[in-house]
Amino acid sequence: MKIFEAELRIRTEGESDIVDITDEIERIILKAGIKNGIVNIFVPGSTGAVTTIEYEPGLLKDLPNTLERIAPKNAYYEHEKMWHDGNGHSHVRASIIGPSITIPVKDGNLRLGTWQQLVFLELDVRPRNRTLIVTCLGE
Ligand code: ZN
Repeated sequence: MKIFEAELRIRTEGESDIVDITDEIERIILKAGIKNGIVNIFVPGSTGAVTTIEYEPGLLKDLPNTLERIAPKNAYYEHEKMWHDGNGHSHVRASIIGPSITIPVKDGNLRLGTWQQLVFLELDVRPRNRTLIVTCLGE
């Protein structure tokens, strides 16, 4: 079994930016030379998240709108008392969605559904430079 680790750097536009990383991850799998196994993508940071979505304009609005209902920006957050960085909601949203995802790899391709894309979700209140850790495991 082979283990291959890579970093994926992305620049986000700020809050609620949803970045399709599917192609980049497939390129990394190709570079890793792994045909069958799994790939894990991890966000080192507590205001970003990874998930999958059907990358179409409606859902790109529906997801942030739903997060606003679950953890509203103008609600009260204890985090603000300590840090005053205005992103209590960002941390809570990121924890709910989660910082990592694992996807099966078959014949060198992600085993995603036809309408399923892999995305990084910027939940912080400003544009950020992000480095995702991509770990491929397999043979
Ligand atoms: Zn904070």
